[in-house]
Amino acid sequence: MAAQVLDGKSLAAQSEAELLARVEQLKANSGGKTPILATLLVGDDPASATYVKMKGNACRRVGMESLAVEMPSSTTTEELLAKIEELNKDPDVHGILLQHPVPEQVDERRCFDAIALHKDVDGVTCLGFGRMAMGEEAYGCATPQGIMRILKHYEIEIKGKHAVVVGRSPILGKPMAMMLLQEHATVTICHSRTQNLPALVALADIIVGAVGRPEFIKADWVKEGAVVIDAGYHPGGIGDVELSALTEKASAYTPVPGGVGPMTINTLIQQSVISGERSLS
Ligand code: NAP
Repeated sequence: MAAQVLDGKSLAAQSEAELLARVEQLKANSGGKTPILATLLVGDDPASATYVKMKGNACRRVGMESLAVEMPSSTTTEELLAKIEELNKDPDVHGILLQHPVPEQVDERRCFDAIALHKDVDGVTCLGFGRMAMGEEAYGCATPQGIMRILKHYEIEIKGKHAVVVGRSPILGKPMAMMLLQEHATVTICHSRTQNLPALVALADIIVGAVGRPEFIKADWVKEGAVVIDAGYHPGGIGDVELSALTEKASAYTPVPGGVGPMTINTLIQQSVISGERSLS
Protein backbone atom coordinates (compact mmCIF):
# COMPACT_ATOMS: atom_id res chain seq x y z
CA MET A 1 0.00 0.00 0.00
CA ALA A 2 1.22 3.51 -0.77
CA ALA A 3 2.62 5.29 2.29
CA GLN A 4 0.85 8.35 3.62
CA VAL A 5 2.67 11.57 2.74
CA LEU A 6 3.16 13.76 5.81
CA ASP A 7 2.85 17.02 3.93
CA GLY A 8 4.64 19.71 5.93
CA LYS A 9 4.26 22.29 3.19
CA SER A 10 0.46 22.34 3.24
CA LEU A 11 0.37 22.12 7.03
CA ALA A 12 2.66 25.17 7.22
CA ALA A 13 0.43 27.04 4.74
CA GLN A 14 -2.67 26.25 6.86
CA SER A 15 -0.86 27.42 9.97
CA GLU A 16 0.24 30.66 8.29
CA ALA A 17 -3.41 31.52 7.54
CA GLU A 18 -4.23 31.07 11.25
CA LEU A 19 -1.20 33.09 12.33
CA LEU A 20 -2.09 35.93 9.96
CA ALA A 21 -5.50 36.22 11.66
CA ARG A 22 -3.87 36.19 15.12
CA VAL A 23 -1.39 38.92 14.16
CA GLU A 24 -4.25 41.02 12.75
CA GLN A 25 -6.15 40.59 16.02
CA LEU A 26 -3.07 41.52 18.03
CA LYS A 27 -2.54 44.65 15.91
CA ALA A 28 -6.14 45.69 16.48
CA ASN A 29 -5.77 45.20 20.25
CA SER A 30 -2.39 46.87 20.67
CA GLY A 31 -2.68 50.09 18.66
CA GLY A 32 -1.07 48.67 15.52
CA LYS A 33 1.88 46.83 17.07
CA THR A 34 3.03 43.51 15.61
CA PRO A 35 5.33 40.81 16.93
CA ILE A 36 8.92 41.39 15.82
CA LEU A 37 11.48 38.63 15.24
CA ALA A 38 15.12 39.76 15.23
CA THR A 39 17.26 37.60 12.94
CA LEU A 40 21.00 37.57 13.57
CA LEU A 41 23.22 36.51 10.68
CA VAL A 42 26.95 36.41 11.37
CA GLY A 43 29.33 35.99 8.41
CA ASP A 44 28.67 35.40 4.74
CA ASP A 45 27.65 31.76 4.43
CA PRO A 46 25.23 31.79 1.45
CA ALA A 47 23.04 28.93 2.79
CA SER A 48 22.62 30.72 6.13
CA ALA A 49 21.76 33.97 4.31
CA THR A 50 19.09 32.09 2.33
CA TYR A 51 17.59 30.54 5.50
CA VAL A 52 17.45 33.95 7.22
CA LYS A 53 15.81 35.48 4.15
CA MET A 54 13.20 32.68 4.09
CA LYS A 55 12.46 33.31 7.78
CA GLY A 56 12.07 37.08 7.16
CA ASN A 57 9.71 36.35 4.24
CA ALA A 58 7.63 34.01 6.43
CA CYS A 59 7.31 36.81 9.03
CA ARG A 60 5.93 39.15 6.39
CA ARG A 61 3.48 36.52 5.09
CA VAL A 62 1.80 36.40 8.51
CA GLY A 63 1.81 40.20 8.85
CA MET A 64 4.59 40.46 11.44
CA GLU A 65 7.91 42.22 11.13
CA SER A 66 11.47 41.01 11.19
CA LEU A 67 14.53 42.99 12.17
CA ALA A 68 17.47 41.71 10.13
CA VAL A 69 20.82 42.16 11.89
CA GLU A 70 23.92 41.26 9.87
CA MET A 71 27.38 41.08 11.39
CA PRO A 72 30.72 40.48 9.60
CA SER A 73 32.55 37.14 9.61
CA SER A 74 35.25 38.72 11.84
CA THR A 75 32.70 39.19 14.69
CA THR A 76 33.98 38.14 18.12
CA THR A 77 32.02 36.33 20.82
CA GLU A 78 31.99 39.52 22.92
CA GLU A 79 30.59 41.59 20.04
CA LEU A 80 27.85 39.06 19.38
CA LEU A 81 27.01 38.82 23.09
CA ALA A 82 26.69 42.62 23.23
CA LYS A 83 24.28 42.59 20.27
CA ILE A 84 22.19 39.82 21.84
CA GLU A 85 22.04 41.78 25.10
CA GLU A 86 20.84 44.85 23.19
CA LEU A 87 18.07 42.77 21.57
CA ASN A 88 17.18 41.18 24.94
CA LYS A 89 16.62 44.65 26.36
CA ASP A 90 14.66 46.00 23.38
CA PRO A 91 10.97 45.86 24.35
CA ASP A 92 9.93 45.93 20.67
CA VAL A 93 11.75 42.65 19.93
CA HIS A 94 9.74 39.55 20.87
CA GLY A 95 11.93 36.79 19.48
CA ILE A 96 15.61 36.34 18.63
CA LEU A 97 16.94 33.94 16.03
CA LEU A 98 20.71 33.41 15.92
CA GLN A 99 21.35 31.59 12.65
CA HIS A 100 23.46 28.44 13.08
CA PRO A 101 26.34 27.98 12.34
CA VAL A 102 28.33 31.04 13.40
CA PRO A 103 31.99 31.60 12.36
CA GLU A 104 34.36 29.25 14.19
CA GLN A 105 35.99 31.91 16.43
CA VAL A 106 32.59 32.58 18.02
CA ASP A 107 31.50 30.56 21.06
CA GLU A 108 28.10 29.55 19.69
CA ARG A 109 26.87 27.86 22.87
CA ARG A 110 27.65 30.96 24.99
CA CYS A 111 25.82 33.15 22.48
CA PHE A 112 22.78 30.86 22.25
CA ASP A 113 22.58 30.79 26.05
CA ALA A 114 22.72 34.58 26.23
CA ILE A 115 19.30 34.79 24.53
CA ALA A 116 16.65 35.65 27.13
CA LEU A 117 14.40 32.63 27.74
CA HIS A 118 11.21 34.54 26.90
CA LYS A 119 12.71 35.55 23.51
CA ASP A 120 14.17 32.11 22.72
CA VAL A 121 11.56 31.38 20.04
CA ASP A 122 13.97 29.08 18.15
CA GLY A 123 14.41 26.95 21.28
CA VAL A 124 18.21 26.90 21.38
CA THR A 125 19.12 27.74 24.99
CA CYS A 126 20.25 25.12 27.52
CA LEU A 127 17.64 26.45 29.91
CA GLY A 128 14.86 26.04 27.37
CA PHE A 129 16.08 22.54 26.50
CA GLY A 130 16.22 21.54 30.17
CA ARG A 131 12.74 22.90 30.86
CA MET A 132 11.32 21.13 27.78
CA ALA A 133 13.01 17.87 28.80
CA MET A 134 11.44 18.19 32.27
CA GLY A 135 8.00 18.80 30.78
CA GLU A 136 7.97 22.48 31.83
CA GLU A 137 6.77 25.40 29.68
CA ALA A 138 9.37 26.39 27.05
CA TYR A 139 9.57 27.18 23.36
CA GLY A 140 10.59 23.96 21.63
CA CYS A 141 13.61 23.79 19.38
CA ALA A 142 12.10 24.68 15.99
CA THR A 143 12.97 21.63 13.84
CA PRO A 144 12.02 18.87 16.31
CA GLN A 145 9.00 20.89 17.50
CA GLY A 146 7.92 21.18 13.86
CA ILE A 147 8.29 17.40 13.52
CA MET A 148 6.14 16.86 16.64
CA ARG A 149 3.48 19.12 15.13
CA ILE A 150 3.51 17.01 11.92
CA LEU A 151 3.15 13.78 13.95
CA LYS A 152 0.28 15.24 15.97
CA HIS A 153 -1.53 16.69 12.96
CA TYR A 154 -1.45 13.36 11.13
CA GLU A 155 -2.42 11.51 14.34
CA ILE A 156 0.65 9.27 14.29
CA GLU A 157 0.61 7.24 17.48
CA ILE A 158 3.73 7.89 19.57
CA LYS A 159 2.85 6.44 22.98
CA GLY A 160 4.54 3.10 23.54
CA LYS A 161 6.19 3.12 20.10
CA HIS A 162 9.89 2.57 19.58
CA ALA A 163 11.41 5.73 18.09
CA VAL A 164 14.96 5.63 16.72
CA VAL A 165 16.58 9.04 16.28
CA VAL A 166 19.72 8.97 14.14
CA GLY A 167 21.75 12.06 15.13
CA ARG A 168 22.29 13.80 18.47
CA SER A 169 22.98 17.43 17.62
CA PRO A 170 21.89 20.10 20.12
CA ILE A 171 19.38 21.62 17.67
CA LEU A 172 17.89 18.42 16.31
CA GLY A 173 18.64 14.91 17.53
CA LYS A 174 18.83 15.58 21.29
CA PRO A 175 15.70 17.73 21.62
CA MET A 176 13.88 15.38 19.21
CA ALA A 177 14.61 12.43 21.46
CA MET A 178 13.40 14.31 24.56
CA MET A 179 10.18 15.43 22.87
CA LEU A 180 9.39 11.87 21.77
CA LEU A 181 10.14 10.65 25.30
CA GLN A 182 7.76 13.28 26.70
CA GLU A 183 5.08 11.74 24.49
CA HIS A 184 5.87 8.29 25.94
CA ALA A 185 7.83 6.76 23.09
CA THR A 186 10.65 4.35 23.91
CA VAL A 187 13.61 6.20 22.41
CA THR A 188 16.94 5.01 21.02
CA ILE A 189 19.44 7.73 20.08
CA CYS A 190 22.10 6.81 17.50
CA HIS A 191 25.24 8.72 16.53
CA SER A 192 28.57 8.34 14.78
CA ARG A 193 29.90 5.84 17.35
CA THR A 194 26.77 3.66 17.33
CA GLN A 195 27.48 0.04 16.45
CA ASN A 196 25.25 -1.95 14.14
CA LEU A 197 23.05 0.97 13.13
CA PRO A 198 21.01 -0.99 10.51
CA ALA A 199 19.84 -3.46 13.19
CA LEU A 200 18.74 -0.61 15.49
CA VAL A 201 16.91 1.20 12.69
CA ALA A 202 15.16 -2.09 11.85
CA LEU A 203 13.56 -2.05 15.34
CA ALA A 204 11.98 1.38 14.85
CA ASP A 205 8.27 2.11 14.60
CA ILE A 206 9.24 5.77 14.07
CA ILE A 207 12.58 6.74 12.51
CA VAL A 208 13.99 10.25 12.53
CA GLY A 209 16.88 10.80 10.12
CA ALA A 210 19.00 13.73 11.35
CA VAL A 211 22.48 12.73 10.20
CA GLY A 212 23.44 15.36 7.64
CA ARG A 213 24.51 12.80 5.01
CA PRO A 214 22.57 12.29 1.77
CA GLU A 215 20.46 9.11 1.76
CA PHE A 216 22.59 7.64 4.55
CA ILE A 217 19.71 5.64 6.05
CA LYS A 218 18.96 2.86 3.60
CA ALA A 219 15.44 1.73 2.70
CA ASP A 220 16.29 -1.92 3.36
CA TRP A 221 17.14 -1.12 7.03
CA VAL A 222 13.58 0.13 7.59
CA LYS A 223 10.85 -2.11 9.00
CA GLU A 224 7.70 -2.61 6.92
CA GLY A 225 5.04 -0.10 8.10
CA ALA A 226 7.43 2.24 9.94
CA VAL A 227 6.86 6.01 10.03
CA VAL A 228 9.85 7.79 8.48
CA ILE A 229 10.74 11.39 9.31
CA ASP A 230 13.53 12.79 7.18
CA ALA A 231 15.00 16.01 8.60
CA GLY A 232 17.86 16.13 6.10
CA TYR A 233 18.09 18.42 3.13
CA HIS A 234 20.81 18.22 0.48
CA PRO A 235 21.33 19.71 -2.98
CA GLY A 236 19.11 18.03 -5.53
CA GLY A 237 16.26 17.78 -3.05
CA ILE A 238 17.28 14.61 -1.25
CA GLY A 239 17.27 13.94 2.46
CA ASP A 240 19.13 11.77 4.96
CA VAL A 241 16.92 8.75 4.18
CA GLU A 242 16.64 6.76 0.96
CA LEU A 243 13.01 7.83 0.60
CA SER A 244 12.38 6.91 -3.04
CA ALA A 245 12.51 3.22 -2.13
CA LEU A 246 10.19 3.66 0.89
CA THR A 247 7.04 5.04 -0.67
CA GLU A 248 5.44 1.57 -0.55
CA LYS A 249 7.28 0.07 2.44
CA ALA A 250 6.78 2.79 5.07
CA SER A 251 3.32 3.55 6.47
CA ALA A 252 4.00 7.29 6.32
CA TYR A 253 6.90 9.60 5.50
CA THR A 254 7.87 13.25 5.26
CA PRO A 255 8.86 14.18 1.69
CA VAL A 256 12.02 16.11 0.86
CA PRO A 257 11.46 18.90 0.06
CA GLY A 258 8.08 19.84 1.54
CA GLY A 259 8.17 17.89 4.81
CA VAL A 260 10.22 18.99 7.81
CA GLY A 261 11.73 22.19 6.31
CA PRO A 262 8.52 24.28 6.00
CA MET A 263 7.41 23.24 9.49
CA THR A 264 10.74 24.33 10.99
CA ILE A 265 10.23 27.86 9.71
CA ASN A 266 6.55 27.82 10.61
CA THR A 267 7.31 26.75 14.18
CA LEU A 268 9.77 29.62 14.59
CA ILE A 269 7.11 32.04 13.33
CA GLN A 270 4.36 30.48 15.47
CA GLN A 271 6.50 30.77 18.60
CA SER A 272 7.35 34.40 17.71
CA VAL A 273 3.64 35.17 17.43
CA ILE A 274 3.00 33.54 20.83
CA SER A 275 5.81 35.61 22.34
CA GLY A 276 4.35 38.77 20.76
CA GLU A 277 0.90 37.91 22.12
CA ARG A 278 2.31 37.41 25.62
CA SER A 279 4.14 40.71 25.53
CA LEU A 280 1.63 42.94 23.73
CA SER A 281 -1.73 41.83 25.02
P1 NAP B 1 24.99 17.78 12.76
O1 NAP B 1 25.12 18.81 13.82
O2 NAP B 1 26.08 17.62 11.75
O3 NAP B 1 24.73 16.37 13.48
C1 NAP B 1 24.74 15.19 12.76
C2 NAP B 1 24.54 14.03 13.71
O4 NAP B 1 24.62 12.82 12.94
C3 NAP B 1 25.60 13.95 14.80
O5 NAP B 1 25.00 13.69 16.04
C4 NAP B 1 26.48 12.79 14.36
O6 NAP B 1 27.00 12.01 15.43
C5 NAP B 1 25.49 11.94 13.58
N1 NAP B 1 26.22 11.11 12.62
C6 NAP B 1 27.18 11.51 11.75
N2 NAP B 1 27.65 10.44 11.06
C7 NAP B 1 26.98 9.37 11.52
C8 NAP B 1 27.05 7.99 11.23
N3 NAP B 1 27.91 7.50 10.33
N4 NAP B 1 26.23 7.15 11.88
C9 NAP B 1 25.35 7.62 12.81
N5 NAP B 1 25.25 8.94 13.12
C10 NAP B 1 26.07 9.79 12.49
O7 NAP B 1 23.67 18.00 11.90
P2 NAP B 1 22.25 18.66 12.30
O8 NAP B 1 22.39 20.13 12.39
O9 NAP B 1 21.63 17.91 13.42
O10 NAP B 1 21.45 18.34 10.96
C11 NAP B 1 21.14 17.02 10.57
C12 NAP B 1 20.39 17.06 9.24
O11 NAP B 1 19.20 17.80 9.39
C13 NAP B 1 21.15 17.76 8.11
O12 NAP B 1 20.85 17.07 6.90
C14 NAP B 1 20.59 19.15 8.07
O13 NAP B 1 20.64 19.73 6.79
C15 NAP B 1 19.18 18.88 8.47
N6 NAP B 1 18.50 20.02 9.14
C16 NAP B 1 17.32 20.41 8.60
C17 NAP B 1 16.63 21.44 9.16
C18 NAP B 1 15.35 21.83 8.56
O14 NAP B 1 14.80 22.87 8.90
N7 NAP B 1 14.80 21.02 7.68
C19 NAP B 1 17.13 22.10 10.29
C20 NAP B 1 18.33 21.67 10.86
C21 NAP B 1 19.01 20.62 10.24
P3 NAP B 1 28.09 12.57 16.49
O15 NAP B 1 27.31 13.38 17.47
O16 NAP B 1 28.65 11.35 17.09
O17 NAP B 1 29.08 13.37 15.71
